[in-house]
Amino acid sequence: MKALVFGAGGFIGSHLVRRLKSEGYYVTGVDLKVPDFSESAADEFVIGDLRDPAVVQSALEGGGDELYQLAAEMGGAGFIFTGDNDAEILHNSALINLNTAKFATNAGIPLLFYSSSACVYPRSSQNDPARPDCREDAVYPADPDSDYGWEKLFSERMFAAFGRNHSVRVKIARFHNVYGPEGTWTGGKEKAPAAICRKIAMAANGSSIDIWGDGRQTRSFLFITDCLDAVRTFMKSKFDGPLNIGSEELISIEEFARLVIRISGKELSVNHCNGPTGVRGRKSDNSLMREELRWEPRVPLKEGISLTYRWIQEQVTVRSERYLPS
Ligand code: NAD
Repeated sequence: MKALVFGAGGFIGSHLVRRLKSEGYYVTGVDLKVPDFSESAADEFVIGDLRDPAVVQSALEGGGDELYQLAAEMGGAGFIFTGDNDAEILHNSALINLNTAKFATNAGIPLLFYSSSACVYPRSSQNDPARPDCREDAVYPADPDSDYGWEKLFSERMFAAFGRNHSVRVKIARFHNVYGPEGTWTGGKEKAPAAICRKIAMAANGSSIDIWGDGRQTRSFLFITDCLDAVRTFMKSKFDGPLNIGSEELISIEEFARLVIRISGKELSVNHCNGPTGVRGRKSDNSLMREELRWEPRVPLKEGISLTYRWIQEQVTVRSERYLPS
């Protein structure tokens, strides 16, 4: 079996390539860059810009059995909720998706996976931090809280239309806050779990860390191995989605920070400061996943975030040693 992974240099893409290799696939990865933290396990790795139709067509020349489309202009709240990057997010991700849907269909790839996001859900169903409503069919009437979410919703519709109008099968997943080792942890595109782990890893014992907003906003976080298990189970299932791939373990950002502080073994206090926070509450609803896949996440947040914190702590240590004067 041959798989193509678009976005193979990113966090989820690089882990997915490893998973597909361990299952015996021949894998071609495509991305603007190789993975940041380890060598790609792909058999072939094409450095290329998927906004360019020629790059997409050439990557698809050898055909394949499955294509996973994960490439996107992507980041955490500091990247997608400030409004400063909206034009690039809409333009770049839409081009990648338009090219992928059309040329993968033309190339006769029989099965496509598209990674959408929890950011498609409307603002109005996520005002209550204790009871956000993210059932798959709660997505309309549409009112995502970011242009990142609007682009994902447009591309979901576009991929689904290719599935209806052409002989290609399309699977659409909505990822909810995936985290784990080898995720972006610094530089402005990191998401909340990695950013909080980094702040705590860098803080001196007895000091404080800043978190954005009042800390009462809630989220759920999915560990990377659960994400990969869900993607692979979904690909083998009869159901095509859209399907939430997330955890139902709801936690406030304040509680999350205090959990990581306990894991770190440090004495730290938490300050609240202004910053982009997104909706008040967001949590995966896995009813459809249980019904259609008979599957549920296995890794509790405490366990997954302990592994992630240790990994980020190592990155912080390596970086500070590198900059020590000799
Ligand atoms: P990531 O940013 O680590 O990976 C995305 C990859 O796409 C990057 O390696 C980037 O270089 C590549 N890319 C961007 N523009 C490109 C271009 N023009 N040509 C080729 N490659 C390009 O993000 P991730 O966390 O691995 O997310 C993977 C997918 O899942 C994305 O589509 C993202 O929107 C979606 N998603 C992720 C999460 C999450 O929590 N991580 C949540 C919801 C949805």
